[in-house]
Amino acid sequence: MADTGAGRFAPSPSGRLHVGNLRTAVVAWLFARSTGRRFLIRVEDLDRVRAGAEADQLAELADLGITSDSPVLRQSDRTDLYSEALRALIDRDLAYECFCTRRDIAEAASALHGRPGFYPGTCRGLTAEDRARRRRERPPALRLRAAVDTWAVEDVLAGRVAAPVDDVVLRRNDGVIAYNLAVVVDDAAQGVDQVVRGDDLLTSAPRQAYLASLLGLPAPVYAHVPLAVTAEGRRLAKRDGAVTLEDLAAQGRTPGAVLALLLSSLGLPEGSLQAALGAFDTARLPRQPWVVDPSGLFSTPACPACKPSASTDKVLP
Ligand code: GLU
Repeated sequence: MADTGAGRFAPSPSGRLHVGNLRTAVVAWLFARSTGRRFLIRVEDLDRVRAGAEADQLAELADLGITSDSPVLRQSDRTDLYSEALRALIDRDLAYECFCTRRDIAEAASALHGRPGFYPGTCRGLTAEDRARRRRERPPALRLRAAVDTWAVEDVLAGRVAAPVDDVVLRRNDGVIAYNLAVVVDDAAQGVDQVVRGDDLLTSAPRQAYLASLLGLPAPVYAHVPLAVTAEGRRLAKRDGAVTLEDLAAQGRTPGAVLALLLSSLGLPEGSLQAALGAFDTARLPRQPWVVDPSGLFSTPACPACKPSASTDKVLP
């Protein structure tokens, strides 16, 4: 069979998915299917794992009609693959040991007027003796020796995005492979050539595409979807109210009703995923965050075109 490429949804099993996460999964599914791609689900469980969350998330997605075309992969089963990629970078002197704590990094970045959150390169030039001495104090993380400052990707929704690339962590100092490396290795190994996910990861795309280029892997097509936010503009979280399928089921909302809500928020026919697929057009996807009021999730939105009738007009003193 010809390789058709694949899209994917890659949740971290840290808890239940909320309506914003589910909406992104729906968009990823629609993107993949509308472009003739396979659709895969991958469990990103190298970090942030809560017992039982993986099964809950897969069941929630299946309730909406979203399943993986191939067996679901779990990152914790794939460490050999990541270690191989890491080895290839080490062999080319593209990785170095870093002994900095978070605090060291914050202090160095502010002393150098660096960008907060960006690694200022403190351990780049350590000598073999320095490293041997520091290893006795704390195990090192491994960082990428990036040779560029910025990298650009084309995003279907956001356009061209150039973002800074710093010496990202490849393996944490507790030995766990870092997300940026695992995601790049997995997408390529699984034939994923379309990455649709929340736009909180938009600025990570250039560094991931750069890492892919160093590993000789193709960069996928990206589409970063605006997130669900509260009325105050904060990223939606589970504590914001009844925002998971479980909470909504307790209020008598079926998965079908939630799917209809998600599709309607995307300006698509609400009847089914298949019907939405027929009408799916990336050019017409909302480019703004989805504002969610958990208490009024299922209320009919106010009609902006409807003016109050003359009799209800009030003249304020
Ligand atoms: N596992 C990541 C998350 O749940 C998503 C990573 C990705 O889609 O590349 O935030």
